[in-house]
Amino acid sequence: MRITVLGGCGAWPEAGQACSGYLVEHDGFTLLVDVGYATVPRLLERVSQDQVDAVFISHGHPDHCADLNPLLRSRALRDDPPAPLPVYALPGALNAVLALDRPGMLDAAYVLHEFTAGSRLDIGPFRAETRLLSHWVPNAGVRLTVDDRVLVYTGDSGPSPEVVELARDADLLLAEATYVDQVPEDSRRDLSSARQVGRQAAEAGVGELLLTHLQPGTDPATARAAAADGYQGKVGVATTGLVIDLG
Ligand SMILES: [Zn+2]
Repeated sequence: MRITVLGGCGAWPEAGQACSGYLVEHDGFTLLVDVGYATVPRLLERVSQDQVDAVFISHGHPDHCADLNPLLRSRALRDDPPAPLPVYALPGALNAVLALDRPGMLDAAYVLHEFTAGSRLDIGPFRAETRLLSHWVPNAGVRLTVDDRVLVYTGDSGPSPEVVELARDADLLLAEATYVDQVPEDSRRDLSSARQVGRQAAEAGVGELLLTHLQPGTDPATARAAAADGYQGKVGVATTGLVIDLG
C-alpha cells in the first residue's frame, strides 16, 4: 500500500499546497481519500483523472470535498469519458458539492455509494471499516486494510476512545491535528491537537503517525515535537508530495 499526500492544509490551501487529499494505491488500484481544495492540480501532476478508480470522502466540509467538482468535470467533459467514478460518502455529505453544476451535467460521471458510518465496504482491493468520529458534521474515520497492512485516517475529529479503537495497531495513523497544544474551547469535541493525537497514537500502538490538517501558519516542527511528547514512534507532517510505502 502506497500513500501519496496531495495536500494536508487545514481549512484553506496555503501557497503551493492543497487541503486534505491522499492517493492510496495498491496493485494498480488507485483510491483517492478526500478531495479538498486544490487537490486536483496536485493529483493531475501524478496520475490522469481516469486513473482514479474510486473516491472515499470523510465528511462534507469543502476543505475535504470541494475538488470533487473539478475531478468530475475533468472526466465528464472529455470526448471519451471514462466509466462512472464510484464515490463513497456519508448520506447527504456531498449534496452541496454535487449541486454546483447545472442539474444532470455530471450525473454520468459518478456513482454515489452512500454508506452508514460503522459499515464495512470493499473498495477495490481495500477493506474499509468506517466509524463515526466526533465533528461538527457527520465524519467517517476509516481503517483501510490490504494484505495485512493498515492505514487509519481520522478525517476531522475531536479526541475520543473511538479514534483509539479504530487506530488499534495500525501501521500508519493519518490524523487531523489542526492545533499544536490547546484546542479552543468551542472546538474541543470537533478538532484535535498534535499533542492529543500523539497520545492517542501511543494508546493505539500504531507503527507511525502522520499529522495532517495543520492550521495554515503552524510550524510543522512544533507540531511534530508536541506529538512526540506522548508518542515514541516516527512522526511526520503531511505535505504535498510526501510518499509513504507501507510495503
Ligand atoms: Zn471538517
